[in-house]
Amino acid sequence: MNVERLLQLDADHVWHPCTQMKDHEELPPIPIERGDGVYLQDKNGKCYIDGVSSWWVNLLGHNHPRLNTALIEQSRKIAHHIFANFTNEPAVMLSAKLAAVTPGNLSKVFFTDNGSSAVEAALKMSFQYWQQCGHPGKTKFLSLTGAYHGETIGALSVGGCDLYRQIYQPILLQGFQVQGPDCYRCAEGKHRDTCQAECFAHVEAIVREHHESIAGIILEPLVQGAAGMRIYSPRYLQKLRSLCDTYKIHYIADEIAVGFGRTGKMFANDHARVAPDIMCLSKGITGGYLPLAVVVTHDEIYRAFYDEYTSLKAFLHSHSYTGNPLACAVAVEVLTIFEEEKILEEVQPKIDQLASFKERFEALPCVGEFRQLGMIAAVELVKDRETREGFPWEERTGYRVFQEALKAGALLRPLGNVVYFFPPLTIKPNELETLADIACESIGKVLGK
Ligand SMILES: *Cc1c(COP(=O)(O)O)cnc(C)c1O
Repeated sequence: MNVERLLQLDADHVWHPCTQMKDHEELPPIPIERGDGVYLQDKNGKCYIDGVSSWWVNLLGHNHPRLNTALIEQSRKIAHHIFANFTNEPAVMLSAKLAAVTPGNLSKVFFTDNGSSAVEAALKMSFQYWQQCGHPGKTKFLSLTGAYHGETIGALSVGGCDLYRQIYQPILLQGFQVQGPDCYRCAEGKHRDTCQAECFAHVEAIVREHHESIAGIILEPLVQGAAGMRIYSPRYLQKLRSLCDTYKIHYIADEIAVGFGRTGKMFANDHARVAPDIMCLSKGITGGYLPLAVVVTHDEIYRAFYDEYTSLKAFLHSHSYTGNPLACAVAVEVLTIFEEEKILEEVQPKIDQLASFKERFEALPCVGEFRQLGMIAAVELVKDRETREGFPWEERTGYRVFQEALKAGALLRPLGNVVYFFPPLTIKPNELETLADIACESIGKVLGK
């Protein structure tokens, strides 16, 4: 199909995600033909460095020979089957491997098929646990401003990004929303590297007063992604763990974005050496190949559901594509590659390289902060460095940088005024350098050097 025809049919029939479709009049969608390593290639042969891992999913590069093989081999056996009363080797192997690599004593794996549905399942699991454990009053969840946990009603209810949620307010679940960490604009004037997560006091205050009605606290450990890659101190998670222990509250960790090595450790919780009670994983789990998500929990929660059928304590949650063998086979291969190719060790020098970009970006007059954790880095564009005031959202500053970067051959889809790097872990040093060059140039073009 030629590009013109493809774009006409796209305009006629496709409704794209998270997009004002009218924008396509100015900037039509780019038809992607193939991928290779860190590159996406469009139908005209132009290549783009995938600087955001195609919405944080691609982990080990596109068109990965080993992942391709895992997928093809599984497809020759079976693509999918019912997962109630039936099981399969890829799903079993994946569960065992996840139990081994996840923090603490997390050992039971419940499958869903996308991040939002994993969050839904986690919330239901936590709620039902308390119903069945003599604490029926624990019916609410505490979440943070700036949080992102997905777009379905339950997940959106514990989200804290107004842009995605404001209009739906009347149909969302009621819970407690507390001021989340925002280190660049820290109210206490501290720095995340040296603070004691003083801002955790906001959570403490609500929990002290309302713990009897709180089932769980959900957050994105160490990096609030959609809020603009807001990075905060591991101390926050340590304080959270001990507060949850004190008040009988589940710590629900949403590692959908930060899991699988993005922060330089396998899981963000590993930086704080704490384990959640329930952990949601998705995105990188299949290397960005197929939709798959899991909710991992420990035996104590699992046992609260384990009883005679007639007790009606079972977790009656299901999705059609639960335990999909194709997705699980690829996910098993991802974890095998992590071990065999020492992905976490190999990535360390690139983390240092990414850190070395700080001075260069902060030398630009409109850059308020360059922040980084592992292979995630963000450049916050501000109108005024002193006051830290951002550009008005209507100006779409980040979006204009994105357009410049596309011309130069990089995909850097921003979050408001935040341009960020979230590349596949296997990006090569020279590719990372090029990505930074393009970002720097594009920011300079839009906002001056
Ligand atoms: C992407 C994301 C989700 C939602 O996952 P989907 O697969 O898009 O539904 C939830 N939580 C976090 C932290 C995410 O980054």
